[in-house]
Amino acid sequence: MKTSDISDNMVKTLADTGNLSDRELISLLLTNEYDDELKAAADRVRRERYGDEVYIRGLIEFTNYCKNNCYYCGIRRDNKNALRYRLEKEDILECCKEGYSLGFRTFVLQGGEDPYYTDALMCEIVSSIRENFPDCAITLSIGEKTRKAYEDFYRAGANRYLLRHETASPSHYAKLHPDSMSLENRKRCLFDLKDIGYQVGSGFMVGSPFQTTENLVEDIRFLQTLMPDMIGIGPYINHKQTPFASYENGSFELTLRLISILRLIFPYALIPATTALGTIHPSGREKGLEAGANVVMPNLSPVKVRRLYELYENKICTGEEAAQCRGCLERRVASAGYRIVTSVGNVKRQQV
Ligand code: SAH
Repeated sequence: MKTSDISDNMVKTLADTGNLSDRELISLLLTNEYDDELKAAADRVRRERYGDEVYIRGLIEFTNYCKNNCYYCGIRRDNKNALRYRLEKEDILECCKEGYSLGFRTFVLQGGEDPYYTDALMCEIVSSIRENFPDCAITLSIGEKTRKAYEDFYRAGANRYLLRHETASPSHYAKLHPDSMSLENRKRCLFDLKDIGYQVGSGFMVGSPFQTTENLVEDIRFLQTLMPDMIGIGPYINHKQTPFASYENGSFELTLRLISILRLIFPYALIPATTALGTIHPSGREKGLEAGANVVMPNLSPVKVRRLYELYENKICTGEEAAQCRGCLERRVASAGYRIVTSVGNVKRQQV
């Protein structure tokens, strides 16, 4: 039974206007009553903008060393049980080469904040990829840097950057991170990146410890000021070797609901069906696509190191070669009613 006509209209208002009041968003986030309508509305909007196309990004997790100590993350500095690895430039180029032959036209270099990769070395790596793969997008996801470093990477040929804000509430941020980190600096990074000309991705974890529904509304409001090209969200997933060992995983259903809400507020956005979503549910990524996501980011890292990039436990796709991953995803995406395309997959800010 639906509680009221007012709530019934909420999905319609959201679809028509691309916004809701804080109070309405909170009530929508707190109930599963409208999930089907939300999903249908989000799929409509996604198809209007992107048809049935799903963009793929080849993820290269090139280092799991990290100088930071985020309380939720399995590769945090103080996890002494983590086996650490680094990929050299040649290894990274090899991953790109294989990815290219599999149809990838975007490479995402992600890693912990590893001082071994100085700004100069990152520029060297980026330039080599740019030289060898001139028709590809190069995305970096290597955390908080100086504006000068971001400018140098951009000049070297990087054109996209992923940096989740994690939570837009300063007090919640302080519960997830040590004092050495601040939401203020993370936001500074995001606005610098945008200003420099990067296509920017941000996002947050769903169900991270101490997160409230109000926090999620703050996340949405922050995204409305940043207006990033990509919005990546995934459920928080526990890792035993962290201070948050005893905390529950985030909710699968709430993550899907948020994907739909984000699609309706940001019709243009690139929204990935994340690995974390596929980790907490066997068909998580398919359900994510059905809820409004339009990007998948399979792993191109060498199989021998994949298991080691353990942000959270039981991460999927750690045993397969890139080609197998690609085939598996092709089938999964098709089963959800969409189609993987070989293109750089740029954002469509305007309805075409
Ligand atoms: N050092 C880079 C990359 C971080 S890892 C950076 O700072 O951006 C990429 C993302 O994984 C993080 O932004 C975080 O949102 C997510 N993540 C980390 N630990 C997680 C966990 N336990 N569960 C779910 N997602 C997690």
